[in-house]
Amino acid sequence: MYTAPPIQCIPPVGAPRLPALFLLGAYVMPNLAVIGAQWGDEGKGKVVDLLAPHFSVVARYQGGPNAGHTVVFGGKSHALHHIPSGIFRDGVRNLVGAGTLVDPDALLGELAKLRDEGVPVESRLLLSARAHVIMPFHRDLDAALEGRLAGAAIGTTKRGIGPAYSAKSQRWGVRLADLETPDDVAARVEQALGAGLAQQLQALGAAAPDPRESARLAERWWAELGPLVGDVTEELHQAIADRRSILFEGAQGTMLDIDHGTYPFVTSSSTIAGGIPASLGVPPRAVETVVGVAKAYATRVGAGPFPTEDKGATGDQLREAGREYGTTTGRPRRCGWFDAVAMRYAVRVNGLDAITLTKFDVLTGLPTVKIATAYEIDGGRTTSVPPTVRAYDRVRPVYEELPGWSESLDGVRSLADLPRNARAYLARLEELSECPVGLLSVGADRAATVIPAGSVLERWSK
Ligand code: GDP
Repeated sequence: MYTAPPIQCIPPVGAPRLPALFLLGAYVMPNLAVIGAQWGDEGKGKVVDLLAPHFSVVARYQGGPNAGHTVVFGGKSHALHHIPSGIFRDGVRNLVGAGTLVDPDALLGELAKLRDEGVPVESRLLLSARAHVIMPFHRDLDAALEGRLAGAAIGTTKRGIGPAYSAKSQRWGVRLADLETPDDVAARVEQALGAGLAQQLQALGAAAPDPRESARLAERWWAELGPLVGDVTEELHQAIADRRSILFEGAQGTMLDIDHGTYPFVTSSSTIAGGIPASLGVPPRAVETVVGVAKAYATRVGAGPFPTEDKGATGDQLREAGREYGTTTGRPRRCGWFDAVAMRYAVRVNGLDAITLTKFDVLTGLPTVKIATAYEIDGGRTTSVPPTVRAYDRVRPVYEELPGWSESLDGVRSLADLPRNARAYLARLEELSECPVGLLSVGADRAATVIPAGSVLERWSK
């Protein structure tokens, strides 16, 4: 078993503010990042919801309604798309950062559901004025582009994510703050149409937006969302200055990162820990502890490299036992074995302090369990992740097979409660991943969780 590094003391609330250099040397900043370590859908929602009461702020840093986080408590399941998973916790501020995308109509639907459930969103939520808006024609473009790619389609959620991030990079995007001045929105859309968007839409058989209609939309959206829009960056800076703790919440996963994932089968933003300071406007050192959420096996939704995919009966069993169908699209997820090669890569890319391992219960009942330890490629072996899809096509995983277990993990609340074979699997997974497991999840409910002694998360579990 790996042991976590010793925990340094956190200064008590209200302690005198000290020079930054001294703070860095003497104290650990009380901030934590929870990010996806695989291909998304790892169970980040459960982990964030569980830890959120120990933080003053939960901040989402990238992605948009393509994310689908599920939080289960009180026998009820709650699906979130834009809104951080700390929204159900009293006294927690939930911030949606500058690097995210907002689809106003989808967000209004999400807000209505939360209000119906009695969640006081007005006092708990702030949307960054700098976040970009997904316009209806971004969704049309997404669908049309995917249609044209045919056999090479990325398998996007068709929520307009790629086109909205493209518009941002081309500097004709619409930001939440722009909605306050609908004429500016009309002018921006006009500018985009004149700079090539009209031709692109026409070539794809999609309708061009009417700038006046875009302005009317902006007016309606601002009337409803305006009170929730503000300076998220400033609020984060204030939280850092006050030494209030921040939980940074990721969406999607490391292998879907725009630069470091399995390009082009990736999402359009920086999902990795390095994306946090860039997307939220906080200093890199504000991201103190980083944990990566991973399933005890692996899944991927959409197209693209997935070396440990099992297209046979085991894959089907994992899909059914793990209910592996997308929260956002309902699509069946591709399922397979835990990939320690990809995990080690995620550990290094993100500087993970611990893995939070979810869905361990799903492996119960399998006669044997496998972990990919290396890849075979072109007659040799590698423990590195290939940089191209072409190379991925030639990869064959090398597996280590361990005995399974048949005992139910219901009621497991400490590592000692685990069946012997489950403990052995966990220990080998840690060893091969070169990272300790700092949280083990054995069911969707908040209670079905083990935080091992010495875990980097122990200080947030009491
Ligand atoms: P996210 O996008 O990373 O938050 O992941 P999703 O919410 O899309 O998928 C995770 C699913 O697994 C959700 O339905 C969770 O309720 C569920 N889940 C999380 N942890 C566990 C676990 O330990 N065991 C089981 N059986 N389900 C879990």
